[in-house]
Amino acid sequence: MKLKNAKSGKTVEFMPHIPTRTDRALADSGGMLGPRILVFDIETTPMLSWHWRCFKENISPVQIVKFTRVLCWAAKWLDNDCVMFDSTQRDGEDDKRCCKTLWKLCNDADILVAHNGRAFDMGTLRARWLAHYQEPPAPSRWVDTLRVARGRFKFPSNRLDGIARYLGLGSKLGHEGFQLWLDCMTGDKAAWRTMEEYNINDVLLDEEVYLKIRAWDSQHPNVSLLYGDGQDRCVVCGGRNFKALNQKAYTAASEFDARRCVTCKTVMRSRKRTDRRASHATIA
Ligand SMILES: [Zn+2]
Repeated sequence: MKLKNAKSGKTVEFMPHIPTRTDRALADSGGMLGPRILVFDIETTPMLSWHWRCFKENISPVQIVKFTRVLCWAAKWLDNDCVMFDSTQRDGEDDKRCCKTLWKLCNDADILVAHNGRAFDMGTLRARWLAHYQEPPAPSRWVDTLRVARGRFKFPSNRLDGIARYLGLGSKLGHEGFQLWLDCMTGDKAAWRTMEEYNINDVLLDEEVYLKIRAWDSQHPNVSLLYGDGQDRCVVCGGRNFKALNQKAYTAASEFDARRCVTCKTVMRSRKRTDRRASHATIA
């Protein structure tokens, strides 16, 4: 499997498990390994079926000739320049090996990041893994950038391309549309090169979107717990530098100092209660 450096374009040997420090901010982490955050995206084949009409057609399972399968995937560990890509180019219609390689990465990840990933990518992957008698991967937490976009903002478009363009982060790569999928399925090498670039670009774009909006994600998994070192860390990026906001944050029963992470800009409350009953640390 190829592993491509996003900046240099060089390919090196695939490694299914790359330890990663969670954030550029963690120069002060004392060499601790941070959470393994995997950004990924899959491309799938269309179904092939016999059907009578083009519009408003209900297609029963008996009419389906070929089910959807994984065509390829791209993934990268956050803050690691290497982008991983695997495809069924040499496997024809058999996506078992391709699904298995992504399973290894998901099995290693603490947090998964994808756009519409919980519903589409992971739903499709679970179905394919099950079809190949693969056991479930180890548990992981999720950041679905589509969920954050829908829940926290009103973008003109919640598609990855729309959000990236709106935020000035770039855009999805253009391609010839459905024909690209058909050409890949018939083994066209040029089409596969385009598909690989398209798939990888989507992952890089989603990573940029994730880094941009994570400070606004009120449901972001608490990464500070994943260090297991008891240090006072940002709950979103794991950074250890904070700026006091000179304001209080309240829960139903307690009062805390509000603060901002210097690295990712997330606003959170301090670990210690500041009301008079405070006697021990509490964290969201
Ligand atoms: Zn942070």
